[in-house]
Amino acid sequence: MRSLPLPTDTQASVFALCLGATNDPGLQARLTAIAASLAASGVTYHANATAASLHHVERRPSVGGVTKAELTGLYEEHLSKTSGAARAVYDRIRSAAPNNRCPLCGVGSVAHCDHHLPKSRYPDLSILPFNLVPACHFCNDKKRAKYPAMAGQQTFHPYFDQHLLKDPWVRATLDPGPPPVLVFDACPPTAWPAVDQDRVRRHFDVCGLATTFTTNANDELPILRDRLVLQGSRGGVPAIQQFLDDERDVHLARPNSWQYATYRALAANAWFVSGGYLTIP
Ligand SMILES: [Zn+2]
Repeated sequence: MRSLPLPTDTQASVFALCLGATNDPGLQARLTAIAASLAASGVTYHANATAASLHHVERRPSVGGVTKAELTGLYEEHLSKTSGAARAVYDRIRSAAPNNRCPLCGVGSVAHCDHHLPKSRYPDLSILPFNLVPACHFCNDKKRAKYPAMAGQQTFHPYFDQHLLKDPWVRATLDPGPPPVLVFDACPPTAWPAVDQDRVRRHFDVCGLATTFTTNANDELPILRDRLVLQGSRGGVPAIQQFLDDERDVHLARPNSWQYATYRALAANAWFVSGGYLTIP
Protein backbone atom coordinates (compact mmCIF):
# COMPACT_ATOMS: atom_id res chain seq x y z
CA MET A 1 0.00 0.00 0.00
CA ARG A 2 1.16 3.52 -0.79
CA SER A 3 -0.25 6.95 -0.03
CA LEU A 4 -0.73 9.46 -2.83
CA PRO A 5 -1.31 13.23 -2.88
CA LEU A 6 -4.82 14.37 -3.79
CA PRO A 7 -5.40 14.89 -7.52
CA THR A 8 -5.00 18.52 -8.56
CA ASP A 9 -8.00 18.45 -10.91
CA THR A 10 -11.23 19.63 -9.33
CA GLN A 11 -14.75 18.28 -9.59
CA ALA A 12 -15.85 21.59 -11.15
CA SER A 13 -13.17 21.62 -13.86
CA VAL A 14 -13.84 17.99 -14.85
CA PHE A 15 -17.60 18.59 -14.91
CA ALA A 16 -17.10 21.65 -17.13
CA LEU A 17 -15.02 19.60 -19.60
CA CYS A 18 -17.68 16.88 -19.73
CA LEU A 19 -20.50 19.39 -20.10
CA GLY A 20 -18.71 21.22 -22.90
CA ALA A 21 -18.23 17.96 -24.79
CA THR A 22 -21.88 16.86 -24.45
CA ASN A 23 -23.52 17.27 -27.85
CA ASP A 24 -27.12 16.45 -26.88
CA PRO A 25 -28.74 19.80 -25.91
CA GLY A 26 -31.35 18.02 -23.77
CA LEU A 27 -28.73 16.17 -21.73
CA GLN A 28 -26.63 19.32 -21.52
CA ALA A 29 -29.58 21.19 -19.98
CA ARG A 30 -30.32 18.38 -17.52
CA LEU A 31 -26.64 18.20 -16.52
CA THR A 32 -26.52 21.95 -16.00
CA ALA A 33 -29.54 21.62 -13.71
CA ILE A 34 -27.72 19.14 -11.45
CA ALA A 35 -24.31 20.87 -11.43
CA ALA A 36 -24.78 22.15 -7.88
CA SER A 37 -25.97 18.77 -6.67
CA LEU A 38 -22.92 16.99 -8.13
CA ALA A 39 -20.64 19.62 -6.60
CA ALA A 40 -22.29 18.98 -3.24
CA SER A 41 -21.68 15.23 -3.67
CA GLY A 42 -18.00 16.00 -4.12
CA VAL A 43 -17.87 18.13 -0.97
CA THR A 44 -19.69 15.43 1.02
CA TYR A 45 -17.32 12.77 -0.31
CA HIS A 46 -14.24 14.76 0.73
CA ALA A 47 -15.63 15.36 4.22
CA ASN A 48 -16.49 11.69 4.69
CA ALA A 49 -13.20 10.44 3.27
CA THR A 50 -11.31 12.76 5.63
CA ALA A 51 -13.36 11.50 8.58
CA ALA A 52 -13.03 7.83 7.48
CA SER A 53 -16.81 7.60 7.12
CA LEU A 54 -17.31 6.87 3.41
CA HIS A 55 -19.92 4.29 4.44
CA HIS A 56 -22.16 7.31 5.14
CA VAL A 57 -22.07 8.48 1.52
CA GLU A 58 -25.51 8.06 0.04
CA ARG A 59 -25.93 5.77 -2.97
CA ARG A 60 -27.97 7.73 -5.49
CA PRO A 61 -29.16 5.71 -8.50
CA SER A 62 -29.83 8.93 -10.44
CA VAL A 63 -29.57 12.67 -9.83
CA GLY A 64 -32.45 14.98 -10.82
CA GLY A 65 -33.36 14.20 -14.42
CA VAL A 66 -30.02 12.50 -15.19
CA THR A 67 -29.99 8.70 -15.20
CA LYS A 68 -27.35 6.34 -13.84
CA ALA A 69 -26.32 5.40 -17.41
CA GLU A 70 -25.93 9.06 -18.33
CA LEU A 71 -23.84 9.78 -15.21
CA THR A 72 -21.50 6.83 -15.72
CA GLY A 73 -21.50 7.70 -19.44
CA LEU A 74 -19.76 10.97 -18.57
CA TYR A 75 -16.81 8.93 -17.32
CA GLU A 76 -16.84 6.47 -20.19
CA GLU A 77 -17.29 9.08 -22.94
CA HIS A 78 -15.12 11.90 -21.67
CA LEU A 79 -12.55 10.50 -19.20
CA SER A 80 -11.61 6.91 -19.96
CA LYS A 81 -12.15 7.09 -23.73
CA THR A 82 -8.86 7.85 -25.51
CA SER A 83 -10.42 10.74 -27.45
CA GLY A 84 -12.46 12.05 -24.48
CA ALA A 85 -12.48 15.76 -23.65
CA ALA A 86 -11.26 15.06 -20.09
CA ARG A 87 -8.89 12.24 -21.01
CA ALA A 88 -5.92 14.33 -19.83
CA VAL A 89 -7.45 14.24 -16.32
CA TYR A 90 -7.70 10.45 -16.48
CA ASP A 91 -4.07 10.24 -17.63
CA ARG A 92 -2.88 12.58 -14.88
CA ILE A 93 -4.60 10.53 -12.17
CA ARG A 94 -3.51 7.18 -13.59
CA SER A 95 0.12 8.30 -13.87
CA ALA A 96 0.28 9.85 -10.37
CA ALA A 97 1.65 6.72 -8.66
CA PRO A 98 5.48 6.89 -8.40
CA ASN A 99 7.14 4.35 -10.69
CA ASN A 100 3.65 3.30 -11.82
CA ARG A 101 3.34 1.12 -8.70
CA CYS A 102 -0.23 0.27 -7.64
CA PRO A 103 -1.01 2.09 -4.36
CA LEU A 104 -3.53 -0.58 -3.30
CA CYS A 105 -1.04 -3.47 -3.21
CA GLY A 106 2.39 -1.86 -3.72
CA VAL A 107 3.25 -4.68 -6.11
CA GLY A 108 1.40 -4.49 -9.46
CA SER A 109 1.85 -1.94 -12.23
CA VAL A 110 -0.90 0.65 -12.60
CA ALA A 111 -3.21 -0.18 -15.49
CA HIS A 112 -6.49 1.62 -14.69
CA CYS A 113 -8.21 4.34 -12.73
CA ASP A 114 -10.25 2.57 -10.06
CA HIS A 115 -13.44 4.15 -8.71
CA HIS A 116 -12.81 3.90 -4.97
CA LEU A 117 -16.58 3.98 -4.44
CA PRO A 118 -17.74 2.05 -7.52
CA LYS A 119 -19.56 4.02 -10.20
CA SER A 120 -22.16 1.26 -10.53
CA ARG A 121 -23.32 2.07 -6.97
CA TYR A 122 -22.39 5.76 -6.84
CA PRO A 123 -22.95 7.07 -10.39
CA ASP A 124 -22.91 10.68 -9.15
CA LEU A 125 -19.24 10.13 -8.16
CA SER A 126 -18.21 8.78 -11.60
CA ILE A 127 -16.13 11.82 -12.56
CA LEU A 128 -15.06 13.00 -9.10
CA PRO A 129 -11.22 13.15 -9.16
CA PHE A 130 -10.93 12.26 -5.42
CA ASN A 131 -12.82 9.05 -6.15
CA LEU A 132 -10.43 7.96 -8.91
CA VAL A 133 -7.35 6.04 -7.82
CA PRO A 134 -4.61 4.51 -9.96
CA ALA A 135 -4.72 0.72 -9.61
CA CYS A 136 -3.23 -2.43 -11.10
CA HIS A 137 -5.41 -4.79 -13.08
CA PHE A 138 -5.53 -7.38 -10.28
CA CYS A 139 -6.65 -4.95 -7.54
CA ASN A 140 -9.12 -3.25 -9.87
CA ASP A 141 -10.62 -6.59 -10.81
CA LYS A 142 -10.81 -7.78 -7.19
CA LYS A 143 -12.50 -4.60 -5.94
CA ARG A 144 -15.16 -4.41 -8.66
CA ALA A 145 -18.49 -3.19 -7.19
CA LYS A 146 -17.62 -3.75 -3.52
CA TYR A 147 -18.57 -0.84 -1.30
CA PRO A 148 -18.54 -0.15 2.47
CA ALA A 149 -21.86 -0.84 4.19
CA MET A 150 -20.24 -0.08 7.56
CA ALA A 151 -17.15 1.73 8.84
CA GLY A 152 -14.99 -1.39 9.11
CA GLN A 153 -15.61 -2.24 5.45
CA GLN A 154 -13.83 0.83 4.09
CA THR A 155 -10.79 -0.28 2.12
CA PHE A 156 -7.54 1.72 2.18
CA HIS A 157 -7.90 5.03 0.33
CA PRO A 158 -4.50 6.22 -0.95
CA TYR A 159 -5.49 9.92 -0.77
CA PHE A 160 -6.91 9.91 2.75
CA ASP A 161 -5.69 6.96 4.82
CA GLN A 162 -1.99 7.53 5.39
CA HIS A 163 -2.52 6.75 9.10
CA LEU A 164 -3.25 3.10 8.23
CA LEU A 165 0.29 2.62 6.92
CA LYS A 166 2.38 3.87 9.85
CA ASP A 167 2.51 0.61 11.81
CA PRO A 168 3.25 -2.77 10.26
CA TRP A 169 0.14 -4.96 9.98
CA VAL A 170 1.01 -7.22 7.05
CA ARG A 171 2.30 -10.41 8.63
CA ALA A 172 4.30 -13.20 7.04
CA THR A 173 4.54 -16.59 8.69
CA LEU A 174 7.05 -19.24 7.63
CA ASP A 175 5.64 -22.72 7.18
CA PRO A 176 8.82 -24.87 7.37
CA GLY A 177 7.41 -27.42 4.96
CA PRO A 178 9.37 -28.91 3.34
CA PRO A 179 9.60 -26.95 1.22
CA PRO A 180 9.45 -23.73 3.31
CA VAL A 181 6.59 -21.45 2.28
CA LEU A 182 5.65 -17.95 3.42
CA VAL A 183 1.98 -17.26 4.06
CA PHE A 184 0.53 -13.79 4.62
CA ASP A 185 -2.31 -12.35 6.63
CA ALA A 186 -3.41 -9.03 8.11
CA CYS A 187 -2.54 -8.69 11.77
CA PRO A 188 -3.07 -5.06 12.86
CA PRO A 189 -1.85 -3.85 16.27
CA THR A 190 -4.40 -4.60 19.00
CA ALA A 191 -3.89 -1.05 20.30
CA TRP A 192 -5.49 0.32 17.12
CA PRO A 193 -9.15 1.36 17.09
CA ALA A 194 -11.29 -1.68 16.22
CA VAL A 195 -12.60 0.03 13.08
CA ASP A 196 -9.09 0.53 11.71
CA GLN A 197 -8.24 -3.10 12.46
CA ASP A 198 -11.33 -4.18 10.53
CA ARG A 199 -10.50 -1.81 7.70
CA VAL A 200 -7.02 -3.18 6.98
CA ARG A 201 -8.28 -6.77 7.23
CA ARG A 202 -11.01 -5.87 4.76
CA HIS A 203 -8.52 -4.19 2.42
CA PHE A 204 -6.24 -7.22 2.59
CA ASP A 205 -9.15 -9.52 1.68
CA VAL A 206 -10.80 -7.34 -0.97
CA CYS A 207 -7.57 -6.74 -2.91
CA GLY A 208 -6.49 -10.39 -2.65
CA LEU A 209 -3.19 -9.41 -1.02
CA ALA A 210 -2.60 -12.91 0.37
CA THR A 211 -2.26 -14.13 -3.21
CA THR A 212 -0.18 -11.19 -4.43
CA PHE A 213 2.24 -11.26 -1.50
CA THR A 214 2.56 -15.05 -1.33
CA THR A 215 3.36 -15.26 -5.03
CA ASN A 216 6.03 -12.57 -4.89
CA ALA A 217 7.66 -13.64 -1.63
CA ASN A 218 7.88 -17.34 -2.44
CA ASP A 219 9.21 -16.57 -5.90
CA GLU A 220 12.08 -14.77 -4.17
CA LEU A 221 13.03 -17.62 -1.82
CA PRO A 222 15.37 -19.56 -4.18
CA ILE A 223 17.38 -16.37 -4.80
CA LEU A 224 17.45 -15.67 -1.07
CA ARG A 225 18.71 -19.19 -0.45
CA ASP A 226 21.74 -18.55 -2.68
CA ARG A 227 22.41 -15.24 -0.95
CA LEU A 228 22.29 -16.89 2.46
CA VAL A 229 24.62 -19.67 1.35
CA LEU A 230 27.08 -16.95 0.33
CA GLN A 231 26.67 -15.12 3.63
CA GLY A 232 27.11 -18.39 5.54
CA SER A 233 30.36 -19.14 3.70
CA ARG A 234 31.70 -15.75 4.76
CA GLY A 235 30.63 -15.57 8.37
CA GLY A 236 28.45 -18.47 9.42
CA VAL A 237 25.16 -18.06 11.26
CA PRO A 238 26.02 -14.57 12.62
CA ALA A 239 26.51 -13.29 9.06
CA ILE A 240 23.18 -14.79 7.98
CA GLN A 241 21.41 -13.23 10.95
CA GLN A 242 23.02 -9.86 10.18
CA PHE A 243 21.99 -10.06 6.53
CA LEU A 244 18.34 -10.81 7.37
CA ASP A 245 18.26 -8.11 10.06
CA ASP A 246 19.67 -5.57 7.60
CA GLU A 247 17.16 -6.51 4.89
CA ARG A 248 14.32 -6.18 7.41
CA ASP A 249 15.58 -2.76 8.52
CA VAL A 250 16.03 -1.31 5.04
CA HIS A 251 12.46 -2.33 4.15
CA LEU A 252 11.04 -0.71 7.28
CA ALA A 253 10.49 2.41 5.17
CA ARG A 254 7.54 0.41 3.74
CA PRO A 255 6.31 -1.42 6.82
CA ASN A 256 3.37 -3.03 5.02
CA SER A 257 5.28 -4.36 2.03
CA TRP A 258 5.67 -8.11 1.51
CA GLN A 259 9.42 -7.51 1.68
CA TYR A 260 9.36 -6.07 5.22
CA ALA A 261 6.96 -8.75 6.43
CA THR A 262 9.12 -11.46 4.84
CA TYR A 263 12.41 -10.37 6.36
CA ARG A 264 10.82 -9.67 9.72
CA ALA A 265 9.51 -13.24 9.81
CA LEU A 266 12.71 -14.85 8.55
CA ALA A 267 15.09 -12.83 10.77
CA ALA A 268 13.05 -13.90 13.82
CA ASN A 269 13.01 -17.59 12.87
CA ALA A 270 15.93 -19.37 14.59
CA TRP A 271 15.36 -22.59 12.63
CA PHE A 272 15.54 -20.74 9.31
CA VAL A 273 18.61 -18.71 10.28
CA SER A 274 20.55 -21.69 11.57
CA GLY A 275 20.19 -23.71 8.36
CA GLY A 276 16.48 -24.09 7.57
CA TYR A 277 17.08 -21.92 4.47
CA LEU A 278 19.03 -24.84 2.97
CA THR A 279 15.74 -26.75 2.54
CA ILE A 280 14.50 -24.14 0.02
CA PRO A 281 14.50 -26.02 -3.31
ZN1 LIG B 1 -2.64 -3.55 -7.03
